[in-house]
Amino acid sequence: MKFQPRASHFIDGEYVEDTNGAAIEVIYPATGEVIARLHSATPAIVEQALNSAKNAQAAWVALSGTERGRILRRASDIMRERNYDLSVLETHDTGKPIQETTVADATSGADALEYFGGLAASLTGEHIPLGGGDFVYTIREALGVCVGIGAWNYPTQIACWKGAPALACGNTMVFKPSETTPLSALKVAEILVEAGAPKGVYNVIQGYGDVGASLVSDPRVAKVSLTGSVPTGRKVYAAAADGMKHVTMELGGKSPMIVFDDADIENAVSGAILGNFYSSGQVCSNGTRVFVQKGIKEAFLKRLSERLAHAKIDDPMDEDVSFGPMVSENQMNIALGYIEKGKAEGARLVYGGERIERDGYFVQPTVFADVTDNMTIAREEIFGPVMSVLDFETEEEVMARANDTEFGLAAGVFTNHLTRAHRIVAGFEAGTCYINTYNLAPVEAPFGGSKMSGVGRENSKLAINHFSEMKTVYVSMNDVEAPY
Ligand code: NDP
Repeated sequence: MKFQPRASHFIDGEYVEDTNGAAIEVIYPATGEVIARLHSATPAIVEQALNSAKNAQAAWVALSGTERGRILRRASDIMRERNYDLSVLETHDTGKPIQETTVADATSGADALEYFGGLAASLTGEHIPLGGGDFVYTIREALGVCVGIGAWNYPTQIACWKGAPALACGNTMVFKPSETTPLSALKVAEILVEAGAPKGVYNVIQGYGDVGASLVSDPRVAKVSLTGSVPTGRKVYAAAADGMKHVTMELGGKSPMIVFDDADIENAVSGAILGNFYSSGQVCSNGTRVFVQKGIKEAFLKRLSERLAHAKIDDPMDEDVSFGPMVSENQMNIALGYIEKGKAEGARLVYGGERIERDGYFVQPTVFADVTDNMTIAREEIFGPVMSVLDFETEEEVMARANDTEFGLAAGVFTNHLTRAHRIVAGFEAGTCYINTYNLAPVEAPFGGSKMSGVGRENSKLAINHFSEMKTVYVSMNDVEAPY
């Protein structure tokens, strides 16, 4: 098997196997073919990984920030050099077109390693004068062993978005990828070692939810960063609370995208395409509720359908292909189930709506119009290529409807009315907002959700606060006064 790794897990700088663990079959979603066979971590493997991370931490945090940063930046360079090979692996693991994986996966992971590598030397506390010569200083300290748990849509990116800030701060990590896409995190671990990371600083173990759960509840773990669904987030947050652990939760969404009738229609259609069909719709921040003002609705739908007809749907390894399969048969069936619900509840099918008859898990890009707020497809996260178009008339009305959801990950507005754009964004109950664009996530900017969509932020300088804590030191330069 072409993509078979040397072993399932990467612990203490080496590949490790334990064939007693439950079998994991890795499937190329474009064909259904098995491309690797791995094993879920047994309790012995979990133990080995946590011990390794725990033992490695003291020496890692004792390095200077400059030294840690240099290793991360070297890893970033290696990732960029190997971008094509890593992208081929990611395409086979996830089914995403090579056209996408070459620009959005290892490259995004490399950005995180480079950015946090660059910040590592600048992580400091501060000096706070108290008067009379007394002062406080703060020490920014690492948390210890951090656990990262990933979803299957951006496996390399998630492994790096969590690993890079954790390591920059002097923590060590045990990362558990989704069992659906277990391969690329192993490459991240290999590359970090090659770049000079000491053994045990970044470990990867495979497994189903039970392995994640055993990591989260372990007393050696100080922090958990999860990318996953809201139901999993709830469980992981609760388990972490028991041990009063730090958490970052990057969870799901049902984000609104509002298109006013003064918007540039081509740009709005581009935003809607990127925000619904990139990665076959398997992006957490997607703007899947597209509110279009009544005056331009039919023009918008017409251009959208014309442009979707240009999507090239085929083998994701073909560089011309712009739309690939869904990640698994299970996810495909979930999306098809929602499409049936959309039809049954009376939404108007404007485009797509079927499984594509060929090997693999391909679902047509699908657009429903005349969707109303209470329809299932407008309320629940589908995580597939299904766009709901809803009509609206006034700004006040659309604002209230856009926010009428338990989620708060992202939100976007297309308009050429300057003050309205900022007014709308100020009213959005969402962590990540877009004006006349959609779905950007550069490492320099904070990324994360409000409401049920998450806790904390990834990327940017803010991520540092979620992987470190401050020790406060009071210093008296005077005699100590006591009442008696
Ligand atoms: P899941 O929530 O099913 O799983 C996420 C990860 O958590 C997996 O590695 C899973 O393992 C693990 N897990 C499951 N149960 C537990 C548990 N009790 N304790 C610890 N770990 C557990 O999400 P998916 O993998 O299906 O990913 C899709 C979801 O991720 C979507 O809802 C999407 O919105 C969200 N997402 C959010 C992003 C964001 O940044 N906000 C980005 C990308 C996706 P296993 O898979 O083996 O069960």
